[in-house]
Amino acid sequence: MQITVFKRILSAAGAALLCLLLPSCGKGVSYVEDPAEYVNTLVGTMSDFSLSAGNTYPAIALPWGMNFWTPQTGKDGDGWQYTYGAHEIRGFKQTHQPSPWINDYASFSIMPVRLQKGASYEGMLDQDARKSIFSHASETAMPYYYSVYLADHDVTAEITPTDRAAQMRFTYPESDESGFVIDSYGGSVEVIDSCTVVGITTSNHGGVPDNFANFFIVKSDKPFMVAASRGVSDVALAFPTVRGEQVTLKVASSFISAEQAERNLREADGSFDEVCAAAKARWNEVLGRIQVGGGKEEDYRTFYSCLYRSTLFPRKLWEEGRDGKPRHYSPYDGKVHDGYMYTDNGFWDTFRAQFPLLNLVYPDESARMLAGFANVARENAFLPEWCSPGHRDCMIGNNSASIVADAAVKGLVAPADLKALYDALVYGSEHVHPQVKSSGRLGCDYYNTLGYVPCDVGIRESVARTLEYAYDDWCILQIACILGRPQEELDKWEARSHNWRNVLDAESRLMRGRKQDGSFSEPFSPYKWGGDFTEGNAWHYTWSVFHEILPLVVAMGGNDSFEQMLDSVFVVPPIYDDSAYGFRIHEIAEMQVAAMGNYAHGNQPAQHVIFLYDYVGAREKTDKWVDEVRSRLYKATPDGYCGDEDNGQTSAWYVFSSLGFYPVCPGSNEYALCTPLFPKFRISPAGGKAFGAPKSDGNFITYEDLTK
Ligand code: CA
Repeated sequence: MQITVFKRILSAAGAALLCLLLPSCGKGVSYVEDPAEYVNTLVGTMSDFSLSAGNTYPAIALPWGMNFWTPQTGKDGDGWQYTYGAHEIRGFKQTHQPSPWINDYASFSIMPVRLQKGASYEGMLDQDARKSIFSHASETAMPYYYSVYLADHDVTAEITPTDRAAQMRFTYPESDESGFVIDSYGGSVEVIDSCTVVGITTSNHGGVPDNFANFFIVKSDKPFMVAASRGVSDVALAFPTVRGEQVTLKVASSFISAEQAERNLREADGSFDEVCAAAKARWNEVLGRIQVGGGKEEDYRTFYSCLYRSTLFPRKLWEEGRDGKPRHYSPYDGKVHDGYMYTDNGFWDTFRAQFPLLNLVYPDESARMLAGFANVARENAFLPEWCSPGHRDCMIGNNSASIVADAAVKGLVAPADLKALYDALVYGSEHVHPQVKSSGRLGCDYYNTLGYVPCDVGIRESVARTLEYAYDDWCILQIACILGRPQEELDKWEARSHNWRNVLDAESRLMRGRKQDGSFSEPFSPYKWGGDFTEGNAWHYTWSVFHEILPLVVAMGGNDSFEQMLDSVFVVPPIYDDSAYGFRIHEIAEMQVAAMGNYAHGNQPAQHVIFLYDYVGAREKTDKWVDEVRSRLYKATPDGYCGDEDNGQTSAWYVFSSLGFYPVCPGSNEYALCTPLFPKFRISPAGGKAFGAPKSDGNFITYEDLTK
């Protein structure tokens, strides 16, 4: 059995581990209470195409909820659906968007209106005519509650979410011509009675079966008249209101059926205030699983705003059937099945720290997610690498292996599910999805014979693919060990996990493109983004050997040489070659403005790099750069991230580092240490034993030491 590779890493480092659990609370230091109040959902919204400060939107949602809601400042179809600098809101949208680059699907919006002189309900069907000016001064943005004053309509709108439903409360002025508009984004709406509208939205960007649909239902507590409609897709509903009159809508939807949507509507039973209180309690339960203490107020805001982002994705795509059991519409085979399903995630981003965070702190939810991914394996041949809601062609790697391995090593995957997942991973290592080239492994024939993906055979990002496939093979090895697979299978994965060596250029001590004939690519610039790499350059990708850092140290000439190369990342100027793209992509701009040389914390490939100093006994440099990144590149403000937040990954980095440890190699049980931001913390996983801050005289700690 070769499962204990991480132990090899530790013993080779000579790191003596000593772990003591601290008492739950020290003298005079108390933990943060009511953590939901520390979250600012507007963090990261001051972003655009050219420079991302997070590329987020204020998700009004429950943790991992099937539906999110957002105020909408952008037009329909604009991935930047809420931007901090915008002045007008066009509606409140049910959204499933994981990233502006993937965009939304199955969305629809609702907008309260009050006609001004000369306006018509007909006109309100136009998103430019119905939009209203607003100010952040009259906006409250919490995870469980959002409100804003829509000045042009003189209406205050409030929203509170459940997993699959929401309540909206509109406070109107005195008017004979009040009401609201429902826009199904090209779908259909049908008025059932004077208080009820049902609809179907199918908006998407491909990658789903033909029968894909989102069935929604809207119930008003005040009767309305149909005032205008556009085809079957949009409707304006009218009623008179007195000053201060409140109208409450209950809204729900389903990917299974209209009948299921009505069942999901029961989640919103009760008054607006009751639903809101339940939503807040849910967030406090989830955020409160990590209690921190002894820190600064401002850092608490950043910490819990990051933890909120780390607990939104992947979202539920399962619903509760008549018998209360989980069921889901499959975006893979178009059928309705029993069991769990989760979606909206780019594993290239989230395998690094976000899933490891869920596995450590939210093992109950992780276990359901992995049961869901096992269902994906049963419903089609491939695991996704980017799902939204089905396979999407985005990014590279085969990091579903990491998602499975990290959960499996922590004991969160049922044996039958693990076998189904393993079989899908084996299949994916030898095939590429016929339509979606990022699922499976593009270039696997080359990789499985040559030991690397050549840079001269028309497959872009060849070095990044090779490095990630090699790490993913190590992840598959961990799963194979747990399953007790035959030795020859273990030997195959073990051998392939060393394939990173095939793209390491000993002369430059950097990863470099390699041709089919074995020679390295010419010319070579470590500053060139893209090309043989993915949204990064050789300075970023050379360290993507998560599972064999010490062999990498040796291959690079030993501790001093490795440390010098790490130093160089931060010392070389932020120069770049963007010729592979033909323009400066936003990730390059974000590296430049951070003023940390060629270190690019705004994108994911380098986010573990700082912790590599731990492996060569230069812990003080880990601590120095962690402190600089934490204090300069994270804030609880609209420009609070230094690049795309990406489904909780960039946030999870902050959460881990604030607690004083980081999962450099997901799929192992090892964490690298840094100086924590908070002197005290307490993690209380549901059903597990609570634990506190690790104490070690080395640079590493294990999962067992932490949680025992
Ligand atoms: Ca990114």
